Amino acid sequence: MDHTKDRLHRFLLERAGVSGVLVQLEDTWQEVGSRSEYPPAVAALLGQALAATAALSGTIKLSGSLSLHIRSKGELSLLYTECNDAGRLRGLAQWRDGVAPAIDLAELPEPLLAITIDNPATGQRQQGMVPVEHGTLAQLLEGYFERSEQLPSRIQLACGGGRAAALILQPLAQTGGTGETDPDGWNRVGHLAATLSDTELLQLPAEQVLLRLFHEENVRLTGERPLFFGCQCSRDRVAAVLRNLGRAESEAALQPDGRIEVTCEFCNTRYHFDRVDLEQVLRDQPDIPGSDSTH
Ligand SMILES: [Zn+2]
Repeated sequence: MDHTKDRLHRFLLERAGVSGVLVQLEDTWQEVGSRSEYPPAVAALLGQALAATAALSGTIKLSGSLSLHIRSKGELSLLYTECNDAGRLRGLAQWRDGVAPAIDLAELPEPLLAITIDNPATGQRQQGMVPVEHGTLAQLLEGYFERSEQLPSRIQLACGGGRAAALILQPLAQTGGTGETDPDGWNRVGHLAATLSDTELLQLPAEQVLLRLFHEENVRLTGERPLFFGCQCSRDRVAAVLRNLGRAESEAALQPDGRIEVTCEFCNTRYHFDRVDLEQVLRDQPDIPGSDSTH
């Protein structure tokens, strides 16, 4: 029996005509959350965003990766979380001094929140900008789905006690077929879901969460998959970054010992390039005059 707690569960509430995704993370979140000495408010938001990203990936047919990206000119400068179609997650945040005990995204100067779906096989990229008005990350994402997809959603995100979790509920599309959908189902499920505490969402086994809340709604589990931490960095990718920086900036990064050290901020892997390596990297550059002038 597999005891890993890091899983995505899909389910249907058949009586109400509602579909849902429940994500719980333990090891994965601890890997991501321990990469940096995150202030508690940044860690809480990063954990919520990581669980949300995984859960969102379960609401669509994903080929490639889905990422959530927050930027601002305030104390939270960057937050990035990513989930791919195999369930591999990674994420990081960058902050400045003076992080408040709780981060209100709408209070940050010039906040940006984007959801991006990348399909490397086809080269396609879809990006949606989420308006950052007042509210929690969960409320901002609910508002986004309401507006962009005309799809009401109920989203609960939680992070604490070494865990992160997400619950997303959405009404099944009414195809106008049998017309059996319960007209009050969506409201009823909303009221039931509102009784779920963050602690229960984080700590109770997934099946127990669903049965406790929705035992009268004919819960049907429709699929699950493991989630895990992983990074896709490689020496080739780092070399490509150096190449894009151009000669002047790359050479400026050479340290007194004649090497460049690049640390992947997702997984802390270190990559080293000496002068000879760097010459090789720069020589591979396609011949674009002045290509380093954009930085
Ligand atoms: Zn990495």
